[in-house]
Amino acid sequence: MYDALTSTYTFSCPIHGETRVCLSRFRRLEQLPGARHPAVYRVEFACGCGSEHPGLVSHDDLDWAPLGLADETRFVNLMTSKLEAVAGELSDVAAARIKAGEWPWSFFCWPEERPRPVFPSAFTLLAPAVSSDRVGVAVRCPVCGKISVNLVTRGHVDVPFLNDREIGVVEHVFERDADATVAEFRAELESESFDARRLGLE
Ligand SMILES: [Zn+2]
Ligand SMILES: [Zn+2]
Repeated sequence: MYDALTSTYTFSCPIHGETRVCLSRFRRLEQLPGARHPAVYRVEFACGCGSEHPGLVSHDDLDWAPLGLADETRFVNLMTSKLEAVAGELSDVAAARIKAGEWPWSFFCWPEERPRPVFPSAFTLLAPAVSSDRVGVAVRCPVCGKISVNLVTRGHVDVPFLNDREIGVVEHVFERDADATVAEFRAELESESFDARRLGLE
């Protein structure tokens, strides 16, 4: 499903049969109700054929496979202080970097006015920026539960531990309602009213 060498996910395409896409080509992520062990996410992705298709991704593939971890039995919450107890299960490289204060993914929470560590399963909407090759990401904050929209490079999304030093932030608190959020997200991306924020978590 996830290929660590190319940082891509494999999905099926009605035209190509099989296709590989980076996380930044995801457009919408939504946890399926019911399935919890492991949780399963329904995604829509922008395919190389020009269309968007649906696909399914397990929580493990979404959050852990990019870190070199794919074991179904693992449950780790890196947001808490349980890090020490689980460090032995993390891949050596990922564990060393997280212990040194680096985070695989981070974003800027606008309602809290601060950067936060995050995992891809917190991304809800993604879309290419209008006039640059950056990508807009709507992230549901794991701490306050509110959605913020950041404008980041593709690498920031696709490559763990590659965090942009400075990102664009929309000064807007988004509705919790999914459809309203999609409409607001598109409007904010088109308006390009982003403020720069530093992402250093230290
Ligand atoms: Zn396709
Ligand atoms: Zn927050």
